[in-house]
Amino acid sequence: MKYCLKKAKENEIDNYRHFAAVIKGGRLIHTGINNNKVGSLIDPLYENKGCHAELMALCKLTEEQIRGSVLYVAGWSRGNNMVTSKPCPVCQKYIAKFNLKAVYYSTPEGGYEELKM
Ligand SMILES: [Zn+2]
Repeated sequence: MKYCLKKAKENEIDNYRHFAAVIKGGRLIHTGINNNKVGSLIDPLYENKGCHAELMALCKLTEEQIRGSVLYVAGWSRGNNMVTSKPCPVCQKYIAKFNLKAVYYSTPEGGYEELKM
C-alpha cells in the first residue's frame, strides 16, 4: 500500500492520482494508473473518458495470472490528501470477473480497507 501511495503521487496524467498494483505470491506482477486520455481498449467502459488504475493494472493480465492475486489501490487528491480509493461500480464489475484473493483500497486516514463485493 505504501508503494501504491508513492507511485500514485507520481501520476501526473490525471487530477485523480490513483495507482493500482497486482501482487501475487509476494511479487508485483502488474501496475496501473488513472488515465484521462481516451483511446485505451477498456476506455469505452468509462464512456470514453479515460481509464481507471484498477483496470489498467488488470487488463494486460490473463485470468490465470490474476487468480489468487491481491489488488491494491491508493490515491491522492489534488491537495495531496489521501483519498478513499474504493473501486467505482464499473471497476468492481470488471474485478468481480476474476478470482482475486482480495482487493484493498486506501482511506483518507492513512489506512486501508478491504473491498467487499
Ligand atoms: Zn473505477
